[in-house]
Amino acid sequence: MRSIPADAVIKAVEDMCIHANRYLPQDVRDCLERSSASETSPAAREVFRQIRENYELAEKSGLPLCQDCGLAVLLVDVGDDVHVEGMNLREAINEGVRRGYDKGLLRKSACDPFTRVNTKDNTPAIIHFDMVPGDKIHIRFMAKGGGSENMSRVTMLTPAQGWPGIRNFVLNLVAEAGPNPCPPTIIGIGIGGTFDYAPVLAKKALLRKLGDVNPDPRLDAMEKELLADINRLGIGPMGLGGVTTSLDVKIAVAPCHIASLPLAVNIQCHSARHEEVIL
Ligand code: SF4
Repeated sequence: MRSIPADAVIKAVEDMCIHANRYLPQDVRDCLERSSASETSPAAREVFRQIRENYELAEKSGLPLCQDCGLAVLLVDVGDDVHVEGMNLREAINEGVRRGYDKGLLRKSACDPFTRVNTKDNTPAIIHFDMVPGDKIHIRFMAKGGGSENMSRVTMLTPAQGWPGIRNFVLNLVAEAGPNPCPPTIIGIGIGGTFDYAPVLAKKALLRKLGDVNPDPRLDAMEKELLADINRLGIGPMGLGGVTTSLDVKIAVAPCHIASLPLAVNIQCHSARHEEVIL
């Protein structure tokens, strides 16, 4: 059994919180550049220019990419031959979030759902654990903004609704969301599992690299079809019209009950801040 000191987990999470909030990942930048080149409307091109100026300034100045520094969402694969020494893994991750949001001067957005009193350190983080073979811990961090999360939905379709039902639900949702999730967006879709698991699939789907190819040719075709349909809606960057409402569509699936077709759509804004580390 391999041991990892809790301090190493805390420091890794702290660094990810700070860096992810200042540096837009390269795959997102590349995708924004490609999309910008395909826009002809002056308003859409201007939005892309401002997005680029914003991420370049954030990198140079150390200021956050957005005033909404997000809830800390972490997807953690824990090897079954690794042990964290000195602190429970969940506590260590929360301590890393606490320190990262404090030292990075990042806005703390976690609050009580009724009183709205802020927890003041952006914890508790939203953490999804998976047990995997091996002696490593793989931690993926997202700073998930409220604007795009608010536009996300989960529903239980009937099996008979199938792909046409899924497609209609996603298109109606993106149309209804309009400019609210700060487009151009990334659409994470979870299909299958249960009512609670489909959104986890959707969240995991969002962490794939933009522009990659789904290894399942059936899902790859669905992703491409939906992306083209979404971009025909004409919402455009920040809702000002254009051919880029979304940068990418990512689908993850799991087997489900014979009577069910769970569907979750997790919308991510263009400020897709994420990082990962393997310890
Ligand atoms: S949706 Fe994204 S870009 Fe818009 S305010 Fe929230 S975090 Fe910032």
